[in-house]
Amino acid sequence: MSVAGSIRVLPHRAVRGFLIGLSHRRSIGRAAVRSPVARSVVSRFVAGETLEAALPALGALRQAGLRTSVDVLGESVTSSDLAAAAADRYAATLPVLAKRGLDANVSLKLTQMGLEIGPEVCRGNVMRILDAARQVDGFVRFDMEDHTRTDPTLDIWQEAHEAYPRTGVVIQSALRRSEADVERVLAAGGNVRLCKGAYDEPGSVAFQEKREVDASYARLMERLLASGTYHALATHDARLIARARAFAEREGIGSDRFEFQMLYGVRRDLQRMLAGRGYTVRVYVPFGREWYPYFMRRLAERPANVGFMLKAIAREEGRRLRHH
Ligand SMILES: Cc1cc2nc3c(=O)[nH]c(=O)nc-3n(C[C@H](O)[C@H](O)[C@H](O)COP(=O)(O)OP(=O)(O)OC[C@H]3O[C@@H](n4cnc5c(N)ncnc54)[C@H](O)[C@@H]3O)c2cc1C
Repeated sequence: MSVAGSIRVLPHRAVRGFLIGLSHRRSIGRAAVRSPVARSVVSRFVAGETLEAALPALGALRQAGLRTSVDVLGESVTSSDLAAAAADRYAATLPVLAKRGLDANVSLKLTQMGLEIGPEVCRGNVMRILDAARQVDGFVRFDMEDHTRTDPTLDIWQEAHEAYPRTGVVIQSALRRSEADVERVLAAGGNVRLCKGAYDEPGSVAFQEKREVDASYARLMERLLASGTYHALATHDARLIARARAFAEREGIGSDRFEFQMLYGVRRDLQRMLAGRGYTVRVYVPFGREWYPYFMRRLAERPANVGFMLKAIAREEGRRLRHH
């Protein structure tokens, strides 16, 4: 059986855990960059290595009636200088987006802002980005990382929200604690992006069965829709999207009171269909050189993506050997 075929018959959870494990191995990432085919598969999920390179993709989404949130890729930064440089990149991105008439909306990860160095370093960097956002009336979303970061992310988001209200945070339906976290964000008047969760979490803190994660998503989604404040439903799950639409219709919640969010390169058909029906659809558009861990999580969500990539690499290798 081919490697791609073996991946298909392995349990989804095992493949997911393996790929997320690999996402922490940056040396493998550096090796992967050398393969042109890997790079071409990466370009399905990552809009470019620089802002300049990502602008055409952002413009095309805008033309298609989609909104965007930009992720300047990076995470798990281990020096203050790197964290400050990451914050500078965000602060520089916001005015460029605004000037081009694109959404001045960014999504950031606190480990990129220096959370692992210390909360003070991280806070300082976040505040600098908020200042840049304030200049252009931009929006800053705090992505959620693995469960060890949930508390500090909520704490720092809440402080940021008090300083500048056009911010939001992410809640993951996979985590058992999320119901309480949703209530906390609602009490603070915050804007939630609800997602399932992209990390490989232990059973002590997270639901292990897809059916449980989906049921938790449905519960939290209905709580958010009924809350009266604006939130974002981030999923490509057509069944949950249909359920959200039916719930909103039944409860008289207008399509201007929430938005759907999806990832760049994933279910483009669904993105356009929903936008065509009058829903706000925001696409999460990552760019930057630090694409490796982000890309590995995208592979982990859908192991068929790995098969697709391996087949392409095998084809490329075949061509290379024939030409030698
Ligand atoms: C806008 C946005 C922001 C996010 N932010 C965060 C965050 O801050 N923290 C976090 O932990 N997670 C985040 N995620 C990721 C999220 O947690 C899930 O891992 C991811 O969205 C897959 O779950 P799903 O809801 O699409 O459902 P699934 O049940 O995983 O997928 C439903 C269907 O969507 C399609 N699909 C899903 N993923 C892919 C893929 N990678 N490639 C191809 N097709 C795919 C497939 O057709 C699949 O059958 C975010 C997701 C989105 C859309």
